[in-house]
Amino acid sequence: MQEYDVIIIGSGLGGLLCANILAEEGYKICVLEKNQQIGGNLQTFVRDRVIFDTGVHYLGGLGEGENLNRFFNYFGIMDKLKLEKMDENGFDIVTFEDDNIEYPYAQGYENFIRVLSAKFPAEKEAIKKYCEKIQSVCSRFPLYNLQNGESYNSDSELLQTNAKDFIASLTKNEKLQNVLAGTNLLYAGIGERTPFYIHALVVNSYILSAWRMVDGGSQIAKLLAKNIRKYGGEILKRHEVKQLKFEGDEICSAELTNGKSVKGKLFISNAHPLTTLELLEKGKVRKSYYTRFKSLENSVSAFSLYLVFKKNKVKYERRNYYHFKRNDVWSVTNYKENEWPLNYGAFMVSTSKANDFAEGMAVLTYMKFDEVKQWANTCSTVSQPYFRGEDYEDFKRIKSELLIDELEKKFPGIRENIKAYYTSTPLSYRDYIATPEGSMYGIVKDCFDPLKTMVPARTKVKNLFFTGQNLHFHGVLGVTVSAFVTCSEILGLNYLLDKIKAKETQGK
Ligand SMILES: Cc1cc2nc3c(=O)[nH]c(=O)nc-3n(C[C@H](O)[C@H](O)[C@H](O)COP(=O)(O)OP(=O)(O)OC[C@H]3O[C@@H](n4cnc5c(N)ncnc54)[C@H](O)[C@@H]3O)c2cc1C
Repeated sequence: MQEYDVIIIGSGLGGLLCANILAEEGYKICVLEKNQQIGGNLQTFVRDRVIFDTGVHYLGGLGEGENLNRFFNYFGIMDKLKLEKMDENGFDIVTFEDDNIEYPYAQGYENFIRVLSAKFPAEKEAIKKYCEKIQSVCSRFPLYNLQNGESYNSDSELLQTNAKDFIASLTKNEKLQNVLAGTNLLYAGIGERTPFYIHALVVNSYILSAWRMVDGGSQIAKLLAKNIRKYGGEILKRHEVKQLKFEGDEICSAELTNGKSVKGKLFISNAHPLTTLELLEKGKVRKSYYTRFKSLENSVSAFSLYLVFKKNKVKYERRNYYHFKRNDVWSVTNYKENEWPLNYGAFMVSTSKANDFAEGMAVLTYMKFDEVKQWANTCSTVSQPYFRGEDYEDFKRIKSELLIDELEKKFPGIRENIKAYYTSTPLSYRDYIATPEGSMYGIVKDCFDPLKTMVPARTKVKNLFFTGQNLHFHGVLGVTVSAFVTCSEILGLNYLLDKIKAKETQGK
């Protein structure tokens, strides 16, 4: 049987990036993906000829010299991506039901301060301080800035500052506090727990520059896959890992649900840490290690509504909307069922079929797994379709109508411009991505116990590493940083950073 140098479990962004880095370095790589489509949360699907993103709706930090641009340049994909820059003076718009004013986030810090201060003329200093703090926090994460440096793990002030409290300390103006935290759907913010550094790392990249992926985010996965194959790596779709088998203290092979077995020297798991530990042969790691991951809370899941618009009816906008029913953006993850939905993010579909009108829109809101618990023992994906029942179809219909009612309040007339709609629930996210209870972003980061909620790339099994959104932080940028953290365990961080710099110099 062929033996690979590195077997990667899962072809989410983290898995593909690690495969790319290591394959380029000459390692013999095999990526095992359970789904029919690679990419994890980068997967797209088509309905009524409209391409919808399942997970990633927009990216930050892709401007010249910015962090994600530099990382993507290293992978040689930056100049191949089909991107559309979002509205410079308002890429994200925060709105509230009881307030007709739209609060825009503009691109570039000076512009951000200028545009938001126009809505809060008495608060310019607070907005400035907020921007300074974001930038100073981001400067303390070396790899985020493609540098090697001191670990921030011992910096308790940095890790324990609470996002809600910090923002409240800047201004007494509650509306401004809510506006500054108004895109917290991007990290499923929890008032009492979310650290400010998570807010800063995510929001900073979008303030630098915000981009939509034209025709969907799967282009990132496809470009990375092309590279991996060019370097001799293999990606096997519909290859679900069922168990990781050991020889002594090390993993020697991945056993698949299709009956095959793949041998390897090193293993990197892009699956959720708990999902990964459940794949290990029994008794190979201490129970306390498993219990540690079992005890960590995962972020809430989501309900997505994908709207197909009637032709030439809804004007296309290069901006997203983050809307809230109440003037309290920090309390929405823990909603009561009878008040759902308390908020949503609305993201228009960007298409290369240039047009002034939108083809479709993805509307995202939180949904707790409990709401779909009665269908928890069903599983349905494209490769293994299963009809969960009429009651499930009714559930999705009722929820969709409630969400459309909310949209109609903000965008009057939208209902009559909908040609068709499609949905995904926490069950879809669970079945496609294999995160516990369909969690959107994985393990909840907690300012009260920051180190407990940080996952190192090294595991208690010598030849098994983690990668992906559970390591440092989630999102395309966070996962990219995590892939470098994981690969640095194998190649060394300075070596990798030198490679990035060498490619930058070559490119000049
Ligand atoms: C609704 C939603 C909206 C989002 N919007 C944005 C956004 O606008 N911008 C942004 O930057 N980020 C966004 N994110 C976050 C971002 O999509 C994720 O953080 C990121 O894509 C996660 O990548 P990952 O590498 O951790 O892998 P994942 O995407 O989690 O993929 C894991 C992969 O592992 C595979 N796998 C699991 N178990 C097995 C097994 N046993 N055998 C084989 N394969 C297995 C899965 O099938 C999957 O392909 C969003 C996420 C969600 C859910």
